[in-house]
Amino acid sequence: MTMDALRFYVGGEWIDPLGRETMPIMDPATEERIGTVALGSAADVDRAAQAARLAFETFGRWPKADRLALLRRIRDLTAERREDLAQAMSREMGAPITMAREVQAEAGVGHADGFIEALEAQQERWTLSNGDTLLREPIGPAGLICPWNWPINQIALKVLPALATGCPAILKPSEHTPLSAAIYAEILHEAGVPAGAFALVHGTGPGVGDAIARHPGLAMVSFTGSTRAGVSVSKSAADSVKRVTLELGGKSPNLVFADCGADLETRVRASVAECFLNTGQSCDAPTRLIAERACYDAVVEIARTAAEETEVGDPRAEGDHIGPLFDRLQWDRVQTRIEQGIEEGARLVAGGPGRPEGLNRGWFARPTVFTDVRNDMSIARQEIFGPVLSILPARDEAEAIAIANDTPYGLAAYVQTGDPARAERVAARLRAGAVHVNGGGLGWGTPFGGYKASGNGREGGAMGLEDYQEVKSLHFG
Ligand code: NDP
Repeated sequence: MTMDALRFYVGGEWIDPLGRETMPIMDPATEERIGTVALGSAADVDRAAQAARLAFETFGRWPKADRLALLRRIRDLTAERREDLAQAMSREMGAPITMAREVQAEAGVGHADGFIEALEAQQERWTLSNGDTLLREPIGPAGLICPWNWPINQIALKVLPALATGCPAILKPSEHTPLSAAIYAEILHEAGVPAGAFALVHGTGPGVGDAIARHPGLAMVSFTGSTRAGVSVSKSAADSVKRVTLELGGKSPNLVFADCGADLETRVRASVAECFLNTGQSCDAPTRLIAERACYDAVVEIARTAAEETEVGDPRAEGDHIGPLFDRLQWDRVQTRIEQGIEEGARLVAGGPGRPEGLNRGWFARPTVFTDVRNDMSIARQEIFGPVLSILPARDEAEAIAIANDTPYGLAAYVQTGDPARAERVAARLRAGAVHVNGGGLGWGTPFGGYKASGNGREGGAMGLEDYQEVKSLHFG
């Protein structure tokens, strides 16, 4: 597998960037350079946008059957290259190989299944009872900006609906994870995406990302990343009146009730594992565990033990351990947050600053649990993006809901309860785009997205397609 990403994919071929800027690709487990990525510029974006505009003339009118056939080929080729994708993500962002294969790479196949089913079911022309006819049409060339934490998951959630609806796509993956993105471009090429209907341009946020957001020839921009960068993308997109869809940060609450009874240990252990999955680098991670007073002490003890038993290790090794954080900057950010938690008076019961014992290089962090956390502390308010769990006590259900909703974010929420009526009642009160009850996971094709500062729009399945479509009304005389 090549470790360099020095060419861009534009107009159906691999071409040289217009400039000469590059950046090292680093292995977070060894801190060693494993390759080089070329960084593009606004001129590279413009070249891709021109190819996209040309491609839209024909690709924008492809019949649904052809788009479905294309998606099916992409799905099958993604399944064939699952191992290559997993190995690339393991090297470039430190995802442990078993998880990289079964969760990270698998998302590329699963999302394709979800979009195929949604496109099959979608009506692109229908008549209202008043006699008017409605058409769904592709919005036009779309810019897609992705982060480094779930590289193929996020690329698939944007590229697939764009192609499914006839929108040429220009992808800027995170420059820290260019290798998996380049393999995905190879998959699209082999699947027969027409020239110009997909472009891969590597580069930084302020360089290539901002140029995508501003480009007058692009009809929309879909962004996943921090709320800070999402706000910047929205402002840059405003002058050209682009549609902007945003999937941003989260500080998701996990409400644990004493009525879990005998299941409490299983539910809390699973909650800790979910929080630490992908080394805590997930926008919807359940990072605020809000425990009812009646089970608080038991929850703290189970969480402490679960964190201490969480293994941290080499991403190349098979197993269910967690890997390193994705780079030095992220490691420094997580250390700062842990130190802030200690300074603000939260009780540290597992982990803490520094690397786990025996790991002297690589951006490994200690699985950390704070208890007696107040919801106004920075560790309860800021997205940490590391293996750090905050546990907060709540008197009763009403206080647990109030604490859960007291956040600028609203991406996901989690409820652990033995009472189905309580699960429904609490879920109805939580201001979040998804509520997971007793470990329920997201199915392929289900919409994913946030309330409040967690963004707007929904990715995945039918609603994910609609983000890339316009609706035209036909009024016949
Ligand atoms: P960013 O939001 O800065 O980066 C995400 C993507 O957006 C990258 O491709 C980035 O490029 C690009 N980008 C950044 N600024 C702009 C801009 N002004 N215009 C267009 N594109 C831009 O996240 P970071 O990697 O800096 O991580 C910071 C924090 O953000 C994390 O600690 C975490 O809390 C949160 N985050 C949330 C994610 C989520 O899934 N919701 C994903 C990633 C991070 P570049 O890498 O060059 O900055």
